[in-house]
Amino acid sequence: MSKDPPGFVCDFMLGRLARYLRTLGLDTLYVRQSTPEVLLPLAHGRILLTRKRALLALRNQGIQVYLVPSEKTDEQLRWVIETFRPPLRPFTRCALCNTPLVHKTREEAKGRVPYYTWRTQAIFSYCPRCDKFYWGGTHKDAMVQRFRRILGALWPEDPSQAVVNTVELDSQEP
Ligand SMILES: [Zn+2]
Repeated sequence: MSKDPPGFVCDFMLGRLARYLRTLGLDTLYVRQSTPEVLLPLAHGRILLTRKRALLALRNQGIQVYLVPSEKTDEQLRWVIETFRPPLRPFTRCALCNTPLVHKTREEAKGRVPYYTWRTQAIFSYCPRCDKFYWGGTHKDAMVQRFRRILGALWPEDPSQAVVNTVELDSQEP
């Protein structure tokens, strides 16, 4: 039934959580219209995360639905990772659209990123759907610190990828 690693669906109240999960490399759909009719076809084989108790009724139709216990994104994230223990591959997926990022060489990044960035960064990745380049730097370091604080021992010791997306985690639009 469930994918391995599990995929998630976040309902309309969990847009920030969806962005966090994607940043950790987890395949996560975000659905603005959280009616059972819309959610049902998307949630098959995935874990549906919601703040809406009424949606638990979808369990009767074979959907794995879970009520996320907090209103705070940090606590929601910790709860999801603690509960499902998915393998984390931070910074390998686009936080905006959920597409897996691909590696780009420095040569390929030339002219597509700010010149200083191009000169100082060695590793780049790219979202083919958003046509957007990503790289490391201080923003990534801050995000790593934040995830480490939220997740504690659940944060992978050696994140597999060095590249970060530079999407602002707390912006309203997922
Ligand atoms: Zn994207």
